[in-house]
Amino acid sequence: MGILEVKGVGKRFGGLQALGDVNLSVTESTVHAIIGPNGAGKSTLLNCLVGKLIPDTGSVLFDGKSVLGRKPHEINQMGISRVFQTPEIFADLSVLENVMIPCFARRDGAFRLHAIESVENEKGLQEKAEEMLADVNMLEKRDMIASSLSRGDKRRLEMAMCLVQDPRLLLLDEPTAGMARADTNNTIDLLKEINEKRDITMCIIEHDMHVVFSLAERITVLAQGTPLVEDTPENIKGHPKVREAYLGE
Ligand code: ADP
Ligand code: MG
Repeated sequence: MGILEVKGVGKRFGGLQALGDVNLSVTESTVHAIIGPNGAGKSTLLNCLVGKLIPDTGSVLFDGKSVLGRKPHEINQMGISRVFQTPEIFADLSVLENVMIPCFARRDGAFRLHAIESVENEKGLQEKAEEMLADVNMLEKRDMIASSLSRGDKRRLEMAMCLVQDPRLLLLDEPTAGMARADTNNTIDLLKEINEKRDITMCIIEHDMHVVFSLAERITVLAQGTPLVEDTPENIKGHPKVREAYLGE
């Protein structure tokens, strides 16, 4: 059984069946990519996994436990973290402060900005935050204001904010969208490092096939809300149905 087991998930928006009957099994420690044309339902599926949307049908098991009906922060506490298309950071706070905030969120289950006032007393947390920044090669930028970072560094910071929560499964929705090639390649290296060093399972939605083929061990192709095929990158590359789905985009 995979760390993530999605069975028969369907989601309808009014008259639109965004997800039909999605089955997906993600093996622990692997990088699993979900690809497919625009409007295929990739983001909708991800939203169902993190509790932002509740599917109409089906089940979602993480580590054998159902996530359905749980609030996003509860799912986060179970060990699922999500990386947004545009990094969600606190622009006016320092890099270090940004990484310390999720520690409180993780502890309290509720998000409390005022907690940062007591950060000085939280030596352990600061050390942990610094360790995460070192892991993503951002330690020397710890005192910079987050808004002044480059796009690639913002992504690194956001990854540190995720890692500090000790996730077991990282969900990424087009993490390199809009990035220049150099930042994209940096992000690929960073994700590889995280997957290998920390043994974190990843489920990545991505349009850029260079990113997909650099990272993924398994690929699920979603088209019109239904998985078309799931296979290794080698087999996906030459698959006629995949070509068809993409040519139809
Ligand atoms: P993808 O991420 O693969 O591009 P989405 O999951 O964003 O696709 O969207 C799948 C379909 O569901 C699209 O037709 C989109 O317009 C529709 N959709 C997504 N979210 C909503 C929503 N909140 N309300 C209505 N329709 C939506
Ligand atoms: Mg999307």
